Amino acid sequence: MNERTPEPAQPRTPTTVCSRCGTTAGGLPVTWTCSVENGTRLYFCETCARDHLRSIESRLDSAWW
Ligand SMILES: [Zn+2]
Repeated sequence: MNERTPEPAQPRTPTTVCSRCGTTAGGLPVTWTCSVENGTRLYFCETCARDHLRSIESRLDSAWW
């Protein structure tokens, strides 16, 4: 009886923008990191995430970078 709601068709892949360096990527690459700061969801590319992994883990706002 339970019918799953079909996913809405997305003709275009959403673009994710790195909150630090501005790099864009189609969709959300698994290598990217998502960080929630002050209720805002931010994404960081693989390079930025690796460079600032410690900052993310210590939960510092990106303004401190
Ligand atoms: Zn970046």
